[in-house]
Amino acid sequence: MTPLEKKIRNQIRASGSISVSQFMSTAMSNPFHGYYQTRDPFGLTGDFITAPEISQVFGEILGLWCAVTWQKENKPKKLSLVELGPGRGTLMSDIMRSCITVPSFLEAVEIHLVETSSVLCKIQKQVLSNFKVHWHKTLDTIPQKPTLIIANEFFDALPVDQYINTSQGWRERRVDYDENSKNLIFILNKKRISIQIPKKLQNARLGAVFENCPIGQKLANKIGRWICLNGVAAIIIDYGYTGPKTLETLQAVKSHQTHNPLLEIGEADLTAHVDFSAISRAFTKGGAKVYGPKNQGEFLLSLGIETRIKKLLEEANSKQAEILMEGCRRLTSSSQMGTLFKVIAVLPANHRAPAGFELQS
Ligand code: SAH
Repeated sequence: MTPLEKKIRNQIRASGSISVSQFMSTAMSNPFHGYYQTRDPFGLTGDFITAPEISQVFGEILGLWCAVTWQKENKPKKLSLVELGPGRGTLMSDIMRSCITVPSFLEAVEIHLVETSSVLCKIQKQVLSNFKVHWHKTLDTIPQKPTLIIANEFFDALPVDQYINTSQGWRERRVDYDENSKNLIFILNKKRISIQIPKKLQNARLGAVFENCPIGQKLANKIGRWICLNGVAAIIIDYGYTGPKTLETLQAVKSHQTHNPLLEIGEADLTAHVDFSAISRAFTKGGAKVYGPKNQGEFLLSLGIETRIKKLLEEANSKQAEILMEGCRRLTSSSQMGTLFKVIAVLPANHRAPAGFELQS
């Protein structure tokens, strides 16, 4: 039994079942044994792989987007470049390298990383050793000045709650301990739920699941207010859908395979797909304007990923060429990450549309 399983069992024995979000939050972020606290989860030897780890071109295109957005937003002299959940620091490193062609942008930039994992902070320190970097546990300690916020595969890591439509109405799914089987199990809470289920879902079929991510929405609201107050933009890239929808997306992944979320707690990555409508509403409530969601494939193609790949191919040997082309396919093809992954940009209201979103009114 993992230390976290023991901890959760004891907690449930003492005070009853816990919500799915409490469960996820303990499994992922417990300061001693949480998944992210204890490992580098990326790559072939890890549990999963993200876009910046697949291809350098992802970060290069985002770097270009950042520099162009800074220019369009009147080139503030000082800019906080903030990344939420920067993983190994690969994305930030690729962004900074690609912006060498815009030295005035690099001069303005101060890097701020929001990261809770001490293991990953150490790796970020090495990868970004050429830059002055400031680390934070939350957004709250970042200075109030013009800001560009980047979050790739960050919102999917935030804990969700789950609700199920039953013959008695919507009920919350919770995690409980079963004394007979001596296992953690999902149960349905008998009580009425305390949130409002979106009107559109009220006639959902029996057994349908609705996921809600209050922490993600609270953060989106804060980012919306932040961008309106201080200026510039945020860009969010993640896998998800346009809600509200009944979907059960909570999943555990270990060694690139799906896994039972209630087993080996703290040893598998737990995520849920992002409801882009719900976070967009929260950004907008914070006063900002949201562009997108646009499919990742279309976004990268519209910003010239193919031209960049062609340029890199000029200098590549055949092995490198194969890696570059395969990376581009994975990021853009609709059978891989091109459609499931989506991009939204957040700007103060009444500003010009950012690059990649010009056709949206
Ligand atoms: N953006 C990176 C990593 C994505 S994995 C990439 O694209 O490769 C999720 C990242 O978010 C990890 O760095 C993890 O440690 C961090 N993280 C998860 N929950 C967090 C939280 N509540 N606050 C800050 N960072 C968090």
